[in-house]
Amino acid sequence: MRYFQVNDQCNGCLACVQNCPANALRAEDGNANRVLSHNMARCARCGNCWRICPQKAIEFQFMLENGWDEVKSLELIFCSVCGVPIYTADYRRTLSEKLGKESEPTCSKHRDEVTRAAKAHFQKRKSPDVRSDIRPDMRGGAV
Ligand code: SF4
Ligand code: SF4
Repeated sequence: MRYFQVNDQCNGCLACVQNCPANALRAEDGNANRVLSHNMARCARCGNCWRICPQKAIEFQFMLENGWDEVKSLELIFCSVCGVPIYTADYRRTLSEKLGKESEPTCSKHRDEVTRAAKAHFQKRKSPDVRSDIRPDMRGGAV
């Protein structure tokens, strides 16, 4: 565990266990070993154990450090148009299961553009008579 560490100087004197006001430390004697355990949920981070340890074995600075511990690393999925990260592969799987289909990964900006382009494409196909891209004088029939 990173937040509470006891280094090799510990000799198992139990001063820390006996002086922890939150019962966040415990010692269990087994057949061959005395095992010292720490409970992060109970710990009040008061530093008493650190102050009291005669061996300077408790490395309390880890509990006070303003740092981040990586707890999980997940594969990212990127927008197929611009390449920005949009969600994780696991999140995409969850979405696909819920929707019952897998769609092209696109960011919100390009999703709208792709939808607009698709709509325009299908509207053109539905109305073959509307030929706005051809000059009026070039169209056949009445003007
Ligand atoms: S007070 Fe220090 S030396 Fe004693 S058991 Fe606790 S950590 Fe180990
Ligand atoms: S920091 Fe305080 S509450 Fe936490 S284990 Fe040490 S003595 Fe107990």
